[in-house]
Amino acid sequence: MFEKTGVASREMVMTKFPPIERINRGPVAVVECYQKIPCNPCQTACPFGAIRIGEDINEIPCRDENVCTGCGVCVAKCPGLSIMIVDGSKSAETVEFRIPYEFLPLPESGEKVTGLDRAGKPICEAKVIRVMNPASFDRTPVVTLEVSREYLYDFRNFRRE
Ligand code: SF4
Ligand code: SF4
Repeated sequence: MFEKTGVASREMVMTKFPPIERINRGPVAVVECYQKIPCNPCQTACPFGAIRIGEDINEIPCRDENVCTGCGVCVAKCPGLSIMIVDGSKSAETVEFRIPYEFLPLPESGEKVTGLDRAGKPICEAKVIRVMNPASFDRTPVVTLEVSREYLYDFRNFRRE
């Protein structure tokens, strides 16, 4: 299915999420890289050595949730837009996501947007908390959004209305 649609199944997604206890402790990277490709900016960008690919650049990256600080440096560096940060420490009802977003115009803080799942289907309302677009991100802005906790494993993107 994934080979045909490019949409990861729930089972695949769950292999990339750390345990909920880790998510609730604070921000952590979810690295949704599912196929062997010759790529490694995530590994080289991480200042803490939390992402390992190893000797073979084709290997699938592995993130150590106990080393990852959730700093977010890797998010804008991934050419596949495969990395997001999840943070369940802010509230019992919501989760914060930091995701790469390369569409224009960029949203504004406080804006209500439509949350999308991995297939691009609308699933929820999301609130934009912040938009970061410094020169060091090299034209890959990163948007922080607040989403209801029930969509933790489904939310992946958003669209403006
Ligand atoms: S969020 Fe920061 S610490 Fe975690 S994997 Fe990415 S760059 Fe490394
Ligand atoms: S930079 Fe992105 S696409 Fe490349 S290996 Fe890392 S997670 Fe995968």
